Amino acid sequence: MNSEIEQIKSRLNIVDIIGEYIKLEKAGINYRAPCPFHNEKTPSFFVSPSRQMWHCFGGCNEGGDIFKFVMKIEGVEFIDALKLLAKKAGVQLKESSKKYEEIKTQREILLSICKKATAFFSTQLEKSKSGLEAKDYLLKRGFKEETIKDWKIGYAPSTWNSLCDYLIGLGYKREDIINAGMASEKFFDRFRSRIIFPICDASGQSIGFTGRVFNSEDEAKYLNTPNTLLYDKSQALYGIDKAKIEIRKKDSCILVEGNVDCIMSHQSGVKNCLAVSGTALTTIHLGIIKRFSNNLTFAFDMDLAGNNATKKGIDIAINNGFNVKVIAMNNEKDPADIILSSGEEEWKRIIEGAKPINQFYFDLALKNKDVKSIEDQKRIVDELLPIFKKIDNTIEQTHWIQKLAEVLSIREDDVRQEMKKVKLPDQEFEIQKEKKGKPRRELLEETILSIILINPLMVEKLNQEQKELFTFIEDKKDDSYIIMKSELLKEEEIDIDDEWHKCVYEIENIYREEKRKKIIVEIKEKEKEGSFEEVKKLLLEFNKLTKKDDKK
Ligand SMILES: [Zn+2]
Repeated sequence: MNSEIEQIKSRLNIVDIIGEYIKLEKAGINYRAPCPFHNEKTPSFFVSPSRQMWHCFGGCNEGGDIFKFVMKIEGVEFIDALKLLAKKAGVQLKESSKKYEEIKTQREILLSICKKATAFFSTQLEKSKSGLEAKDYLLKRGFKEETIKDWKIGYAPSTWNSLCDYLIGLGYKREDIINAGMASEKFFDRFRSRIIFPICDASGQSIGFTGRVFNSEDEAKYLNTPNTLLYDKSQALYGIDKAKIEIRKKDSCILVEGNVDCIMSHQSGVKNCLAVSGTALTTIHLGIIKRFSNNLTFAFDMDLAGNNATKKGIDIAINNGFNVKVIAMNNEKDPADIILSSGEEEWKRIIEGAKPINQFYFDLALKNKDVKSIEDQKRIVDELLPIFKKIDNTIEQTHWIQKLAEVLSIREDDVRQEMKKVKLPDQEFEIQKEKKGKPRRELLEETILSIILINPLMVEKLNQEQKELFTFIEDKKDDSYIIMKSELLKEEEIDIDDEWHKCVYEIENIYREEKRKKIIVEIKEKEKEGSFEEVKKLLLEFNKLTKKDDKK
């Protein structure tokens, strides 16, 4: 087993493997990128080719080798990461790994049920009478034969037990079939008489399904797999397996609302396209998209007054550091309609014309309004000011305030005055972001340790008291994380002496403050005990610490 792991590691380059998931940029001897595991604007995720390691120096502080990376980014267990990387490395897993093969994880059982179900639905679409009717419907709606194959579109027959019987026949347990979301609690087929769109994970395995009616008006148009061990609608992005490479290549992701929109966009050649189906956009979705690009274009049907879910999604995206653009879709058509009625070129042209989010809001607020009418002026201002108030960048904010004043022929000061009155709802994400930060003390300790690695003589510059205070120096000198950090520091070509003094000064104060707090607690305890000699001693120590602070 171990030799297999070593073999895999020796054949693969961590830069290539991680580079398949996120965009890496060269930074000296290392590579860097915004961390795929936490939200950040400045890249603090580093990959070291010489050590074949990765590490996030930002909020999440995660790190490890290629196996750890694949486990985290694919959300899989070690054995799955092993298989995936063994395949990439062309290493055949033998003997000792077979043991793992046999112990199938619950995840694997459910995956294999979904896989069999996908094949079952495909066969139904190609072979059964009503399946062929469904296929005919798809072809008439502009789906090409190869698209149906590529996206593994299928058909669920109108019977109650066909799929359940089929899966039981293959030896799956009733309980697992229910857990995979393929059957109801009473063990009937969940999907009946519907066109089936398998939902895949990033590696292309079916994890859930969307069923769409095509010949009946009285049932819900769409039915999704309930949340299972594999499928969670707040995480699933339809088309991610087919779009991820293209999103990275174009450094841009187009987000549509429906599965059919997504498929049609891909069929038209615009393949950097994903759909969030049946749910609002979440931070988890955004975290996944962020692995591939920071540029997000919404092709949602939206207006300013309504569509709060969409607007909220856009807000979350902006808060997570995305550059957001919006595609204005005329006449309330969705992307699939546009492609069908006006052609692929029209879809591409519309995407080219995507507007930066604030421009989009601005144009939308002015649309069909009379800028000379006071009523309309008020409405425009009411719609736009909450949006402008949220703009982080002062220069951009001023730009829009000026533009609004100009268009409405009012004074800029009045616009600002009105904006002050606007109250924004609590920014929950902001709070979340702050919580993730590493304590300042830890960062300082790391920097001090890295400097010692660059120049071990620096330790001699510490006085006796500092040496006693900085116990961390002995504790974690050989941490591979610190080694990487010191390499980075060397590349940054900063003034090591200067950095050292700043860090030592600041951390000394932090330690002293911590010590003072500890003494205060001790004093209180000793007072309770009545040991006044001890209290006196502690007070002396406390005063000494305070005086030192005054000197500086
Ligand atoms: Zn991170």
